[in-house]
Amino acid sequence: MIEITDKLAESPVQKIKFRGRNYFLKRDDLINYWFNGNKARKFHYYLNADLSAYKKVASCGGNQSNAMFSLAAFAKIKGLQFDYYIKPLPLFLKKNPVGNFKYALELGMNYIELPDYETFYKKVSSPEKTYDILGKDTLFIRQGGAEKEAEYGVKKMADEINLWAKENNIKKLSIFIQSGTGTTALFLQKHLNFTVYTTPNIGTGDYLRKQFALLDKNPENYPVILETKKKYVFGKPYAEFYNIWKEISEENNVEFELLYDPKTLIALDEHNAAVEGEIMYIHSGGQAGNESMLLRYKYEGII
Ligand SMILES: *Cc1c(COP(=O)(O)O)cnc(C)c1O
Repeated sequence: MIEITDKLAESPVQKIKFRGRNYFLKRDDLINYWFNGNKARKFHYYLNADLSAYKKVASCGGNQSNAMFSLAAFAKIKGLQFDYYIKPLPLFLKKNPVGNFKYALELGMNYIELPDYETFYKKVSSPEKTYDILGKDTLFIRQGGAEKEAEYGVKKMADEINLWAKENNIKKLSIFIQSGTGTTALFLQKHLNFTVYTTPNIGTGDYLRKQFALLDKNPENYPVILETKKKYVFGKPYAEFYNIWKEISEENNVEFELLYDPKTLIALDEHNAAVEGEIMYIHSGGQAGNESMLLRYKYEGII
């Protein structure tokens, strides 16, 4: 097993080419072998925090989520137990763990299946209640890490980009980044001297604007939302998703991610002609989840 350390490297920037245009790619997937991507940025605050009052980290969410895997790595780094609350697992996954689920188990995740997951989720969603349910020695991290604490690590990414642009004398730069809850894109825009463009993956642009408003009252800090022409259902395999993922990964010999990257890359492809100057695309990690996504593409007969 590759050594587990709490060191986060500054992510490198490399040149890539995609459909005839040059881009810069910020490799946030290379911050740390186990703990990387935008989840590492979002949980960085906790990595530096004094957690000696806690014995456990707990969270809840999907059985293949990138956050689950990153929290398992985080708990391992901090020497804490990791309890993950989920809906009852499909039998095939229990018998044959793959992807994020498999890697989280290897990192020591303890999972708790809840037949009445929704009730638990509602209860822990109210911050005052969390203590009563899980006890004072448990640090509870909300689903997907959509928290104010995320600002700390995402600001570090913004600082790195601001400095990189200055050192490379790049005056006109636009950033493209995926959005789930929009937390990363919002805090990035707040601390960046350049425009951030983002594509909603989980919900619509309206959902994303509401998410932005929950985290920041000032609309000047909101990223520009770019939709794709076609509507897509989050997490569903589409042939064009697989194709664009394969094309950009093979052309540049970099493995992109299969859940958030494809739709964001389609938006990039549809809108980049209107964007002048240099474009930087953020690689937000998450490749550990590709294994289970590829199985779904196979199951659906797409590959
Ligand atoms: C979680 C995740 C996102 C979404 O991040 P938000 O801050 O919720 O918008 C995007 N890309 C990858 C690879 C992720 O793991």
